[in-house]
Amino acid sequence: MTIDDAPREALRGGPRELLRWVATGAAVSRADLSRLSGLSPSTVSQRVEALISQGLLEETGAGRSRGGRRPRQLAVPTGGAVVGAIDLGAHHARVGTLDLSGRVVQARTLPVRIEDGPEAVLGALLAEVTTLVGGDPAASADGSAADALRGIGIGIPGPVQHATGRIVSPSRMPGWNGFDVAAFCAGRVDVPVIVDNDANLMALGAHRTAHSELDHAVYIKAGTGIGSGVISSGRLHRGAQGSAGDISHCRVVADPAPPCTCGNAGCLEAVASGAALVTALRGQGVQVSDLTGVIRLIDDGDRQATALARQAGRAVGEILAVVVNFFNPQVVAIGGRLADCEPLLASMRATLYERCLPLATQTLLIERVAAGQDVGITGAAHLVIDHVVAAA
Ligand SMILES: [Zn+2]
Repeated sequence: MTIDDAPREALRGGPRELLRWVATGAAVSRADLSRLSGLSPSTVSQRVEALISQGLLEETGAGRSRGGRRPRQLAVPTGGAVVGAIDLGAHHARVGTLDLSGRVVQARTLPVRIEDGPEAVLGALLAEVTTLVGGDPAASADGSAADALRGIGIGIPGPVQHATGRIVSPSRMPGWNGFDVAAFCAGRVDVPVIVDNDANLMALGAHRTAHSELDHAVYIKAGTGIGSGVISSGRLHRGAQGSAGDISHCRVVADPAPPCTCGNAGCLEAVASGAALVTALRGQGVQVSDLTGVIRLIDDGDRQATALARQAGRAVGEILAVVVNFFNPQVVAIGGRLADCEPLLASMRATLYERCLPLATQTLLIERVAAGQDVGITGAAHLVIDHVVAAA
C-alpha cells in the first residue's frame, strides 16, 4: 500500500505535521500550530476540525490564558483509537498496539518459527493484535474495541516490494518467497495493512523518536540478518521497488569469501550478519547454536568470537563508507542485536573514518539506535498513522 510521498516542504503545516506537533507537545493550541506552521488561523482551524472529526485529535478543555479568552487545548486521543504493529524477526516477533501519537499502549514478544510458513505465522500474529486490542481497557470501555483499531503495520525480515506488499526472495524464510502479505491480511482484518521490511521500520521508528529534526540519516539493522533503512529529506527512501537500503548482498573483501544464500560469495550478509558469525564459529569447532551464544562469547572476551566480530565490523564499515560518501547523511545509527557488540562497533567506526571523505564525516554522527526493543513496532505504527492521517 503506497502512502502519500509528497516532498517535505509540501508537508509544512500539513495534517501529519500538525498531528505530530501536538503529539510531541510542541503545540497545545491552534495558536501554537499557526505560529509553527506559518499558516493563517483559519486554515489551521479548518485542518484541526478535520482531524477532530476523524478522531485523530481532541479538545481537552481550557489551556493557559495569555490574557483574554482561554484557548481550548489540543491533544492526541490516548484512549480508544490504536494502531496494531508487528515486528517479525527470525525467532521472535514483537507485537503491540500504539496510540495515534506513536506511544506504545501494550506490547509483547512471542516466539516464532519462520519455517512454519507465512499463513501460520502471520495468522497467529494477527490474532495476537486482535487480542491486544480487545484487552485494552481504554479501547474496550465502550464495547467498541474492534472499531478502535485503525490499521496494522507489519515489518518482515526480508525484501518487500513496496507497491504490492509482496515478499521477494528472502534469505532464511523458506516458503515465504512471493507471498502476498497485504492480500493475506486483507482477508482477515478489516483495516488497512501496510507491509515493509524490518530495517525500514527500524529506520522510521528511530528517526521519529530521535533526530526527527535531521533530514538525512542511515540506520543499519544488524541482527540475524543485516540491512539498512534510509531517511532522505525527512522521509523514508524506498527507491523504485522498495529495495533501497538493502545492503545485505553488497560484496565485501573477505578471504576466503564465504558462500551466501543468494548464490554469490562474499556478500555482507555472509560475513557480518549474526547468522554468519554463528556459521563461522561452528566452522572453527566452537559449540554455539545461535546469536545469543555468539554475543555471550564476545562479551566474555572469547578470542575467536572477538576476531570475527572485528572482521564483521570492518565489513559493515566498508559498505557503510560507500553509502556515506555517496549519500552524505547527518547521522549513521546502528541497531539490532549486534549493535551492543563493542568490538564490531569499534572496527566499523574506524573503517568508516578511514574510508570516507573528510567532508562527509566532518559533522557525521555515528551512534547506536537508542529506541530499544519497541523501535520496530514504533516505525510500523508511524507508517499506519501517516497513512490514516493522509487518508483523512
Ligand atoms: Zn548474497
